[in-house]
Amino acid sequence: VATFLTPTQEKEERHQWVQLVGHRGTFKKGIHDGYILKELSEHEKYCCEILQTDSLKDFVPKYNGIVKDAEGRLFIEMEDLLASFNEPSIMDCKIGVRTYLEEELDKAECNPEPRTDLYNKMIAIDVSAPTEKEHEEKKILKTRYMIWRESLSSSQNLGFRIEAIQISHGSMLKEFHRIKECDDVKQQLKNFLANSLSRANQYLERLFELRSTCIRSRFFRSHELIGSSLLFVHDKKKASVWMIDFGKTRFLPDGIHITHEKSWIRDSHEDGYLIGLDNLITLLQEIINE
Ligand code: ATP
Ligand code: MG
Ligand code: MG
Repeated sequence: VATFLTPTQEKEERHQWVQLVGHRGTFKKGIHDGYILKELSEHEKYCCEILQTDSLKDFVPKYNGIVKDAEGRLFIEMEDLLASFNEPSIMDCKIGVRTYLEEELDKAECNPEPRTDLYNKMIAIDVSAPTEKEHEEKKILKTRYMIWRESLSSSQNLGFRIEAIQISHGSMLKEFHRIKECDDVKQQLKNFLANSLSRANQYLERLFELRSTCIRSRFFRSHELIGSSLLFVHDKKKASVWMIDFGKTRFLPDGIHITHEKSWIRDSHEDGYLIGLDNLITLLQEIINE
């Protein structure tokens, strides 16, 4: 059921909601207290729906259906995970050994149209990355960009990468594209935890629970989770973590089963979700035991 949002409702921001990644303007304040709106993707809507009755339901935002705004744009309404925190610190970790779908790679390969936006994204990170020809054309093939991007960060070797961190009222940190080595990632995690052992332990407990719940989840068994994140949130009193962003989560094709813990080879559909989760757990344990 679609509900209209009046412009005045949209202006009445209760608390400053923080969006770490993703396109600007794709999120709004929800109709209901403690809810937010995210621009509709059919894939994400489908995941949110079935996750509400899966064993993972306590690890995902509550889902409240579809909402239409005054301009007719459709949104999913979901729980604002920041709502119960006071001046929260937030970290978005993208989980998995790759962040593109195999179908995106197939599509990019059959349809090789080099793109200027990808060239610009590449040089924003590393001016020396494009080849001479790419510099001349100011265009990059999507497959080339996707594979290059993944090799820069810790996604391939650790099965996760930090996308962004916001420490309470501090500025937002997003310069993680080239953080690849385990020790460097650990340092960033330490900064985020800000020397709180109890906070690190709360996160660790929650990740253990998440791992064991994943193993018995029907949803987890039957889907590949690509580009999905863990959203870490804490304030002075508590710390917790949730799964978000199911825009690229897909039901596995017929006859394909994945372990979520093997490295990816083409056509295997392995996502490496548990590789990332296990590495996060190990790093947290190391930080706690230091
Ligand atoms: P991308 O695909 O580029 O990662 P996206 O448009 O799919 O972006 P998300 O990754 O779902 O968007 O969310 C972007 C950011 O918005 C997150 O990093 C987080 O800061 C915030 N966010 C998303 N969902 C929630 C939620 N339920 N509660 C609180 N914050 C959220
Ligand atoms: Mg995301
Ligand atoms: Mg997304």
